[in-house]
Amino acid sequence: MSGGQPANRAEELLSKDRKYVWHHISPHNDNPLIFVSGEGCWVKDAEGKRYFDGMSGLWCVNVGHGRESIAKAAYEQMRTIAYSPMMQAHIPAIELAEKINEWLGGDYRIFFSNSGSDANEVAFKIARQHFHQNGEPTRHKFIARHRAYHGSSFGALSATGQAQRKLKYEPLGAGFEHVPPPYCYRCPFGQTYGSCKLECAEAIEDAINWEGADSVAGVIMEPAITGGGIIVPPPEYLTKVRDICDKHGVLLIIDEVICGFGRSGERFGHRNFGVKPDIVTMAKGLTSGYSPLSATAVRADLYESFKSKEANSHFRHVNTFGGNQVSCAVALANLAILEEERLVERSAFIGQELSRRFQVLLSHPNVGDIRSFGSAIGIELVEDQTSKKPAAADKVLKVIAECKSRGLLVGKNGDTVPGFNNIITLSPPFVASDDELDFVARTVIAAIAALGSSS
Ligand code: PMP
Repeated sequence: MSGGQPANRAEELLSKDRKYVWHHISPHNDNPLIFVSGEGCWVKDAEGKRYFDGMSGLWCVNVGHGRESIAKAAYEQMRTIAYSPMMQAHIPAIELAEKINEWLGGDYRIFFSNSGSDANEVAFKIARQHFHQNGEPTRHKFIARHRAYHGSSFGALSATGQAQRKLKYEPLGAGFEHVPPPYCYRCPFGQTYGSCKLECAEAIEDAINWEGADSVAGVIMEPAITGGGIIVPPPEYLTKVRDICDKHGVLLIIDEVICGFGRSGERFGHRNFGVKPDIVTMAKGLTSGYSPLSATAVRADLYESFKSKEANSHFRHVNTFGGNQVSCAVALANLAILEEERLVERSAFIGQELSRRFQVLLSHPNVGDIRSFGSAIGIELVEDQTSKKPAAADKVLKVIAECKSRGLLVGKNGDTVPGFNNIITLSPPFVASDDELDFVARTVIAAIAALGSSS
């Protein structure tokens, strides 16, 4: 810059950004990348530098950038009719609700909203109201897990189990209890999988008993905790949770905001474990991020339970943009791509392939664990493998910076408790080619090698 005048377009944008834009969950002194275009797995910044989008944006651009059929669907829908409220019906919502049912393989009614947080708020309100007007009015609490993230609005944040995200906004909503996660690498119960009794699942039953089952409306969980650091439960965990919910008359709400629509390597993450949820929430991959949309799928008989002759027994919830016609048309075009290109299967392959390539990293002293759920992958960095002390922030940031300098964007997740944000995450678009996967694998391995080998 000279004489206060920006030297080029990139600098001009950056200075305006600094002046006007408040970024999400970032310190003020961040130097954001300004993304200007995207094609397939690649995004380009204002300086013309290309990056492989290793996190699919925020775990969402599953079909990759620049898809013509999605753009056309949006254009055509905008020209036909862009908006009508969801008190009435419209064609894209009808078709999409049918399609979501097909993907879920069950009988669900679909309530559309804007975001993952919204979808979870809707789930909580439906669960509470269902019990309220069906003879169990004291059931109002929800059990969630530490390390979980369920969204940023007050209810969804109350369900979230990461203290630092909540601290300065408390008090949050009442009636949300948390239990330890099924985190085998750092078992909160000091057990080892194989010889344990799944104390992590039993903790849910204990919480229900301690709270009093007649006060508990639901249990909410992701099939595998993603944002909390790719914490994948043992294979029997979810079935055990389903049984506990059934035994105590508690609804099982599965948050598929990240895991759904193929990220888990199946159509939905709960299908990896063969359980049937009562309520499923979904967002991100529903439109691959091309347009905001989320949905809460509710067991059809729960929907029926709202059809009473009593005044006010309907669900008193509305949002202006939820189920927007254009967003629903975009979702339909996105799901058509996933089906036609068999991208759910590709996601499963991507996860297996990258996990296989990353195994070599376990010989590095700073790599404690490698976990994957479909194509959501976490590499847990530690100070050393014996103490398992979470790697200091500078090591985690160094790996991210090394990846970035080599043209790969990766994430960092874990807990917001200082010092525990030590998991490098990847969630690549499902359209990554074999050569691109090779690039991702080589880049991550080189970036971790650049830490040096002394712990
Ligand atoms: N649930 C989960 C599991 C999520 O990962 C997220 C967002 N990352 C949300 C809910 C909230 O979604 P949104 O940001 O669209 O509100």
